[in-house]
Amino acid sequence: MGPPRVFFGFDNSYQRLPSRFYARLAPVPVADPHLLLFNAALAEELGLAPSELEPWAHQLFAGNLLPADAEPIALAYAGHQFGHFVPQLGDGRAILLGEVIDRQGKRRDIQLKGSGKTPFSRQGDGRAWLGPVLREYLVSESMHALGIPTTRSLAAVTTGESVIREERFPGALLTRVAASHVRIGTFQYFACRGDYAGVRTLADYVIERHFSALEPQGDPYLALLQAVAERQAMLVARWMQVGFVHGVMNTDNMAIAGETIDYGPCAFMDSYHPATLFSSIDQWGRYAFANQPQIAAWNLARLAETLLPIMALDDKVALERSKAVVEGFFERFSHHWLAGMRQKLGLASAAPEDAGLVQELLAAMQNGAADYTLTFRRLAAAAVEPGADEAVRSLFSDPAAYDGWAMRWRARLRQERLDDKTRLASMQRVNPACIPRNYWVEKVLDAALQGGDMEPFQALLGVLSHPWHEDADGSRYAAPPPPFQEKYQTFCGT
Ligand code: AMP
Ligand code: MG
Repeated sequence: MGPPRVFFGFDNSYQRLPSRFYARLAPVPVADPHLLLFNAALAEELGLAPSELEPWAHQLFAGNLLPADAEPIALAYAGHQFGHFVPQLGDGRAILLGEVIDRQGKRRDIQLKGSGKTPFSRQGDGRAWLGPVLREYLVSESMHALGIPTTRSLAAVTTGESVIREERFPGALLTRVAASHVRIGTFQYFACRGDYAGVRTLADYVIERHFSALEPQGDPYLALLQAVAERQAMLVARWMQVGFVHGVMNTDNMAIAGETIDYGPCAFMDSYHPATLFSSIDQWGRYAFANQPQIAAWNLARLAETLLPIMALDDKVALERSKAVVEGFFERFSHHWLAGMRQKLGLASAAPEDAGLVQELLAAMQNGAADYTLTFRRLAAAAVEPGADEAVRSLFSDPAAYDGWAMRWRARLRQERLDDKTRLASMQRVNPACIPRNYWVEKVLDAALQGGDMEPFQALLGVLSHPWHEDADGSRYAAPPPPFQEKYQTFCGT
């Protein structure tokens, strides 16, 4: 009996774009694939019939067995890495198997990451190792549970091969699901070659795929820039509301569809500080927590540069309007950010003093090294029961700083007639109890990597998929790190 014919029900639109947009090639098979994680709920959502698929999952998600309707490609893109332009990056270790239309009618990419060399591999080996694969699986699924737009993780397999980084590590692949893999860097790839027919084809494709509701009047490419800016503003605001530091916001790591993508050195902050930075290679703090809006705007300016030449507007007008969109990013970001912070404080309405109230709290948290997640989570109880203040105060090295602020906060809460039950529930719905705390992530990855024990990983993954849950408050995963584990570094050797 030959290998089974498995169909994913692919409908591949990117493969219908001109051939210079990608390279056609299959994943490189691996020695001995084993399935470590399979996201059956996501498979269901994608219409993949998980039970039929599971017997072959280790082969399928290793790239050893191709779905019969796959048309595998590696995508071309460029990008600014830490501010320096690289004209050719591309999928150096990833293969897009194809696109499915999910149960809600949305088009989703299914991509293998760690699938072997491609024409875009440059000096790389085309592979990934187990540590970063597990990390991306955990953090991306946690982000999804937090309601933040993100790529998803469908499966993780080990390869039975080693990958050489600083040491020899077990090889692995991640199967990533995305609204698409078009990045700002994809536009730059064509623009830097003077290929504006390519930029236009890509822009039209992206409008149809992601922004089909764009206002038809005016210049469609200016409207596209505006729409991308809006999604980035919403996304970065959501990151900052949960203390997420992406860590490598290069233009090739910013998805046009507005999803969080490319989980490398990312991490969540414990105690609040705007300069929080985890990545060992980010010497200058370019991608530090509080810089994220500035960087998003900088990236949008790079996108604008690629779109300007294809706008039908007069050159000067096109430039002025594009500049206005990029500069307007900060207003859009602030709007989304403040709206979210109000919710975090339990406010259902807007008042002029709110921005100040939020800033005062953040300043006190910074001075008092208060835990970001727990401060907001515990404010929910304090909002309805002043006796619960002690649990918040104790998070600050100078508890008195909280007391002064809490008086102003309560006065503001009293302006609204909201019953306690509603307020508590709405605050708990936006202030998670559990985020992927670095010391826990390390602990469960250690168990998986050192002892092959996936149980701690599964337990944490389970808790993180219900981050708002009331019971989660008492959970050991909600606790801040022991002091000696506070300094945390992430590495790019993925
Ligand atoms: P990343 O740092 O994962 O965003 O990747 C940046 C660029 O380097 C992309 O073009 C990747 O495809 C490429 N890349 C990263 N790791 C490898 C690898 N092990 N082999 C080949 N290309 C890689
Ligand atoms: Mg990348």
